[in-house]
Order: sequence, then structure tokens, then C-alpha cells
Amino acid sequence: MNHSYILLFSGADLLCDMRSRWGYLHEYSDIEADWLDQATQQHIGHCEGRGVVSYQIAENAAIDTMRFAPTSLFRVLPNLTPDHRDLVSRGAHLAHWRRTHRYCGSCGGLQSVHETEPGLMCQSCGVTTYPRVSPCGIALVVDDDRVLLARNARFPRPMFSTLAGFVEAGESAEQTIAREVKEEVGVATGRIVYYDSQAWPFPDQLMLGYFAEYRGGEIVVDGIEIAEARWFDCNNLPENIPPTMSIAGRLIAHYRDLRAQGLSIFT
Ligand SMILES: [Zn+2]
Repeated sequence: MNHSYILLFSGADLLCDMRSRWGYLHEYSDIEADWLDQATQQHIGHCEGRGVVSYQIAENAAIDTMRFAPTSLFRVLPNLTPDHRDLVSRGAHLAHWRRTHRYCGSCGGLQSVHETEPGLMCQSCGVTTYPRVSPCGIALVVDDDRVLLARNARFPRPMFSTLAGFVEAGESAEQTIAREVKEEVGVATGRIVYYDSQAWPFPDQLMLGYFAEYRGGEIVVDGIEIAEARWFDCNNLPENIPPTMSIAGRLIAHYRDLRAQGLSIFT
């Protein structure tokens, strides 16, 4: 019997077992073999000394819906320990990559798991493809005790958060921050100080977190991505801000704690 745990994806959702210890990690003995799309098998890592392998659910798999339910990562991740969060994040990231890179971008041939490299190899032309990671700058714009938070038009529920955008070709992460802040809320930034990074599997980002110093300008939202943006006193933040599981939430919490001690991020 295979000793590994299984992560089983239904598209971007994780199949969860309502009866198991960790609903998202399955034993091979609890899963029917014909539920697994073998072509999508992917080694993810280890958990308690055992390997973890992910699969996509096979088309037409007759899942026991009284026991197993596809569950959004947004629901699963906040309840995990940091180790398990890393594992599931990596699994979701790689599962997305496998779903979207079945064919070679160079010749259109089928790709299969590379025997020695952590990538895929085209069966026709031999090109190796590595998992795509999309760097994204995320920033809390600050001005003494004030922080600039924005409500994204696409958030499923109203929430005030930091600003973020993908790093474009040829940009440094700091240039991305300055450009995104200007584009999304119209203000100019000065010093930009790195804080921390976080893998974010929605679907394949590496979030690079910064504090950005407010330099000037009135808030003017773009009206497309950002529906509303306001300054908040960091001692009187809005109710709906990101949880500290996310780097957005940690940027806000860290700055509030610094100001409570009378400290500045720009020294
Ligand atoms: Zn090829």
C-alpha cells in the first residue's frame, strides 16, 4: 500500500473528508483508485515523515458526496498550522500549474513529469518547464499614524486592505509598488522599505510586502480595481481588515504595533 498522503483537487478546490483527522490529507485506503487522474500526479513534500502527493480528481469520478466535499482554499487555509498551510499552499500552486501547463509552450507537445528536475519535460522537443511563480508587490502606504487602505471592487465582501499589483517585466519590486500606488489611488510615494514575503496560491503569486512612505497627492481611486480608498488612524482601524494569516494583515498589524511604541519604519 502507498504510504503517502494524498491532496486531491477538484479544479482549484480541495476535496475534504468530513470524517478524517485532517480533512484535506487523505489515505490511499480512503480514496478509490479511479478517482485519481494519474496524469496529474505531483510530489508536494512531507508531513510527519510521510510523503504527500497531489492529484486532480478524474473526470466522471463518482465521489461519495455524503463524505467528501470540494472546499475553497480560502476556507481551508486560515484553519491550518503554518506547516500545513505551507504544504497545502504548495500543493494548490503546483496543481494549478499542472492544470494550465499540460502542453509545451514551444511546440504544443504533451508534457510529462521530468525525471530528475522539479519540472515538466516536453515529450516532443525536450524543453523543460518549471513551475510558474508570479511576483506581486504589496504595500501599506503610511504617513505617521495614518495608513492608506483600499476596498477592492472584486473582494467578495467589503474589506479595507493594502494595495497590490503584479511585477511587470523589467521592473524591480520597489518600482512596482510606486507605480501601483500611483495608478490605483493617485498618491506619490517616497521611501519604500521591505518587510516580508509570502507564497500566495491564488493561484501562483509570491507576495513581496513593503511599507511605502506617503509623499503627496490627494486620493483618487481608479474606479475599476479600487472602489474606495481612505486614510485611517492606525489606532482606529476599520472592522473588516485582512486576517494576519495574510501578509496584508501582518503589514497592518506590524505598523500599528510599531506606532504604539512610538517607532517609525523609516529610520
Ligand atoms: Zn515541446
